[in-house]
Amino acid sequence: MTVAARAPASLAPDFVRRLEAAVGRGLLDSADGAPYLTEWRGLWRAKNAVVVRPASTEEVAEVVRLCAEALVPIVPQGGNTGLTGGSIPYEDEAAVVVNLGRMNRVRAVDPLNYAMTVEAGCILQTLQRTAEEADRLFPLSLGAEGSCQIGGNLSTNAGGVAVLKYGNARDLVLGLEVVLADGTIWDGLRGLRKDNTGYDLKQLFLGAEGTLGIITAAVLKLFPKPRDKRTSFVALRDLDAAIELLVRMRSATGDQVASFEYLPRNCLQMALDHIPGVADPMSRVYDHYALIEVSRTADEDAGFAEHVEAALGKAVEDGLVLDAAVAQSQAQAAMFWKIRDSMAEAQKGEGPAIRHDIAVPVSRIPAFYRECRGRVLARLPEARIHGFGHVGDGNLHYNIAAPRGMDSQAFLALMGEINGVVHDCVAEYQGSISAEHGIGRLRRAELPRYKGAVELALMRKVKAALDPLGIMNPGKVI
Ligand SMILES: Cc1cc2nc3c(=O)[nH]c(=O)nc-3n(C[C@H](O)[C@H](O)[C@H](O)COP(=O)(O)OP(=O)(O)OC[C@H]3O[C@@H](n4cnc5c(N)ncnc54)[C@H](O)[C@@H]3O)c2cc1C
Repeated sequence: MTVAARAPASLAPDFVRRLEAAVGRGLLDSADGAPYLTEWRGLWRAKNAVVVRPASTEEVAEVVRLCAEALVPIVPQGGNTGLTGGSIPYEDEAAVVVNLGRMNRVRAVDPLNYAMTVEAGCILQTLQRTAEEADRLFPLSLGAEGSCQIGGNLSTNAGGVAVLKYGNARDLVLGLEVVLADGTIWDGLRGLRKDNTGYDLKQLFLGAEGTLGIITAAVLKLFPKPRDKRTSFVALRDLDAAIELLVRMRSATGDQVASFEYLPRNCLQMALDHIPGVADPMSRVYDHYALIEVSRTADEDAGFAEHVEAALGKAVEDGLVLDAAVAQSQAQAAMFWKIRDSMAEAQKGEGPAIRHDIAVPVSRIPAFYRECRGRVLARLPEARIHGFGHVGDGNLHYNIAAPRGMDSQAFLALMGEINGVVHDCVAEYQGSISAEHGIGRLRRAELPRYKGAVELALMRKVKAALDPLGIMNPGKVI
């Protein structure tokens, strides 16, 4: 029997009283709790759940123990900025949302060990600043950084714009503290870069989307703070030229390319049309663009800027780059980034879209892009392909916008079919149907089609071993 079948249809008043005793003012009433029960775009809403905001690991553990006893589903929640519906209970599910927002202390910063120990509810941007104050860099960076929390970032194994140089969220963790599904606290807050003492248990919880336990704190890796950045916006011959340029820039800069983001013209145009204050960095119109950021961490490197500019100059000579704007000020660099960061907002102005967050090997991006485009257009001529994103690490947000004038409902009714067209193509290119956003509820039904049977069976065994009652974020991921 699944927990959904055994879980109570509504939360007993006595259970809610015990929750209140556990978290005190951390139990929200229905008015205060409302924002935590609705997905930020309004796509999913929970009607039968309560929200608790514990202030300590012990309080989280007590809440989990109470839920385990009463077989009540738990939905861990960070900043609620996720894109796959993982942080909201199902509509009628009598669940407890455990929002970590009050657990927002930086417990320790150790600049000599290039590490900091932080609680799960810390806002990502706050942690970037904390690192900066210690003359260090915490490199995780993404559009929602002003509101997402590190616990959510780690639980979704977030990617963002610096994966190329620093890796995904999973690569930035030395240790974790987790409340397990029976309320036990696992203290794995080690600040070690070497520890071969058996299974690397923290990896199970990173990217698990709250289905195995609740991350309450983490030891994060820090890096030397960049001393200089070069941000360029370039027009490219085509997508093949983008990959060739990426390879050249990595080589010319000693692998210091932090971000390499691709935008086709229609995506730049979306930003120009819908985002106030965005200006075209070029005086002519081109079909393909890349936003490239190279950073250096050495105090002295007189040749750094010259290397970057020489590599771009050679690419112009060779016809890969048709035009290039190198930011001359922070304000200009910020303007280039504004174009990239506004894609989600700009997409809204183009009407409904069917979104995909896919990855293929970097070398196969151009072929994948063309092949998939052909297949989507064969199914829906006039569809608009808005495929942009982190090509430096093989991740494209391959969004399909409705043909102009098409009825929204009729277009969205094709979602399953279009997802199938795109994701089948991804599978043929040995890719992933979720590069950085996770599975949540959005991609759960599709997962069995794209994961091997052995892999799925292993995932189910891990889930059953760590959450035998099935109370941790049920119905998400697996
Ligand atoms: C404008 C915008 C841009 C974005 N850009 C990117 C991007 O570039 N790259 C990227 O990867 N994502 C991106 N995202 C998606 C989102 O910001 C990330 O997935 C982020 O990591 C989610 O963090 P959160 O705190 O909001 O988590 P939530 O949305 O609250 O939760 C996400 C999942 O993690 C679980 N969870 C949350 N906290 C915990 C915890 N402490 N313990 C256990 N489970 C937990 C939840 O149950 C849920 O399943 C973007 C979102 C927006 C709105």
